[in-house]
Amino acid sequence: MMTDDQLLRYSRQIMLPALDVAGQEKLLAARVLVVGLGGLGSPVAIYLAAAGIGHLVLADFDRVDLSNLQRQIVHSSADIGRPKVASARDSLLALNPSIAVTVLDRKLEGADLAEQVAQADAVVDCTDNFSVRFALNAACVAAAKPLISGAAIRMEGQVSVFDTRDPASPCYRCLYQEGDDSQLTCSESGVIAPLVGMIGTTQALETLKVVAGFGRPLVGRVLLLDAYTLEWRSLKLRPDPACPVCGEQRHAPAV
Ligand SMILES: [Zn+2]
Repeated sequence: MMTDDQLLRYSRQIMLPALDVAGQEKLLAARVLVVGLGGLGSPVAIYLAAAGIGHLVLADFDRVDLSNLQRQIVHSSADIGRPKVASARDSLLALNPSIAVTVLDRKLEGADLAEQVAQADAVVDCTDNFSVRFALNAACVAAAKPLISGAAIRMEGQVSVFDTRDPASPCYRCLYQEGDDSQLTCSESGVIAPLVGMIGTTQALETLKVVAGFGRPLVGRVLLLDAYTLEWRSLKLRPDPACPVCGEQRHAPAV
């Protein structure tokens, strides 16, 4: 049962017939893992907190730097030098004190990563590191958890939802080769500030849809944004039957 305060706080989305009280209760009961509290993780965490995801788990091992503040809007100038997860937690709880925020000030890997993914209802990939992306994807496939993936660099962004509970969904590894180091990061190539907001808020929206079970999430599709022309393209994606991460599972007999 929601309190009067909660009914009022979330009233503008509860009045959406697709969400309603039942959908809001799913959001409040959900535990979502946000990996990376940088340019993408900032709007993701802010909107998920505001919308009432009941338990946010924030993972990042970085410290806030002056050069982050151009786009990492969950942090403030007074946070420079602090752990990003602590800075983000303070911002989120100021926005919505009624949610729970757990901080993991470390690099998630191995059994630690698997355990955090297994406990989550959805995982949001807000990292800019390819080895972490592949590890997150493998953990999500293994635990059958939806992965809401985003990337932004220079003036280009992309977003997709990988959810191998849906047989038509590829996983991240179906699309990208491991060990491909041609991919650049924002610290090397630069990025325009609002672009990470556009991609991150799209990830937040998709997370709410996946958790509450409404609308048609971006499963089996990728959205590509060209910020120079402000054109979004939607491409269909198919699972790779030979994928080393999800292919075996697809070929395994149903139990
Ligand atoms: Zn795959």
